Amino acid sequence: MVEARRRLTPRPQTQPLTPTSANNPTENGDDRSRKTRYVGEKRYIHVDTTLSRIATKIMQDTFGRSITYLRVSVTDRCDFRCFYCMSEEMEFLPRKDLLSIEELDQVCSTFIKRGVRKIRLTGGEPLVRRGIMELIARLGEHKDSGLLDEITLTTNGSQLAKHAHEIKRLGVERINVSMDTLDADKFFEITRRGKLDQVLMGLEAAKDAGLKVKINTVALKAFNEHELSDMLGWCGEQGFDMTMIETMPLGDIGGDRSDQYLPLSSVRARLEADWTLTPSDHTTGGPSKYLGVAETGQKVGFITPLSDHFCDSCNRMRLTCTGTLYMCLGQDSAVDMRAALRADPTLEKLNTAIDESLTLKPKGHEFVIEPGNDGPALKRHMSVTGG
Ligand code: SAM
Ligand code: SF4
Repeated sequence: MVEARRRLTPRPQTQPLTPTSANNPTENGDDRSRKTRYVGEKRYIHVDTTLSRIATKIMQDTFGRSITYLRVSVTDRCDFRCFYCMSEEMEFLPRKDLLSIEELDQVCSTFIKRGVRKIRLTGGEPLVRRGIMELIARLGEHKDSGLLDEITLTTNGSQLAKHAHEIKRLGVERINVSMDTLDADKFFEITRRGKLDQVLMGLEAAKDAGLKVKINTVALKAFNEHELSDMLGWCGEQGFDMTMIETMPLGDIGGDRSDQYLPLSSVRARLEADWTLTPSDHTTGGPSKYLGVAETGQKVGFITPLSDHFCDSCNRMRLTCTGTLYMCLGQDSAVDMRAALRADPTLEKLNTAIDESLTLKPKGHEFVIEPGNDGPALKRHMSVTGG
């Protein structure tokens, strides 16, 4: 079975993708199916030389957890400055330190060959990273070959109107869109610059493209706590699932987080006053615990890293845009994939670095936010590690 897929979808090890206009669909008839990937008028052709590495067994860490999910922060930059995520004045990583699109693809492809079945592109804002469509196109080939189950995206939605149809065509089926309020003024306030209308247009485009959308909302004391029930109703009308997230102490945001922290146990109690929440065995393999919303037929998820953590079933690793692999969102242990990749074109060193990361994955994080203990648990922002 794997043999047949290999022949169907050859991919390169170190060669860059080859854009060509020789197969311009307008000249040769439009065959823009998922099997042939075009970005603009360029078609990308891959010739693989490393498929002998396809995983025969799934990667496991020292606690017996299978690693099947890679989250990739493709940039730490963002066009918003959400006040729980970033400070007003952010110093971003120098562009020269970033992995190129080819290098991001090489690291992702190596993980896929070692058994990763799902990749989420995030950031920062993934849709502001130059070359993001090429990366999705390359990853889409693994989906076509059957090695990858899913490519997903977490986005703030600001660029969605432009890109929704293209990302769907390239193989993305589901996206998470982060939105913490439906009030335009409050939206501007929390993002320090975002326009709600732009995101709503993006969501329309996503629906039109056939993307399945989940809304991510960080529950924030005194900011949106009284709006969450209405937002759940709005999501129901739109056909979106919704996930509520507890704020996590990541990075200096130039303010006090204990003012923001709202335990989801209290959010759930309020939602239950308005909605019939029913047990659900739905899972995406992630930390979210889902309930059905009987009145809308949609689902609501709760991510509770502080009040009830989810480390025992963690199946993921996190790659930053500079090639640092973090084994846990809430711990500092890391392995430098960029050095390993650049030192050895055969990818042996990269594979050895992945082996090392499996031995280093910690048992869990130790987040806490309380008065007098409200500083960042870690220096790095969520936008660096990838939320
Ligand atoms: N820019 C994209 C977005 O906003 O969807 C992707 C990156 S953002 C870091 C990913 C998710 O992390 C968003 O849903 C955001 O709300 C969440 N997030 C950021 N900082 C957080 C924090 N300190 N605690 C909890 N969630 C956070
Ligand atoms: Fe940007 Fe997303 Fe962080 Fe908001 S949450 S500042 S949109 S990276």
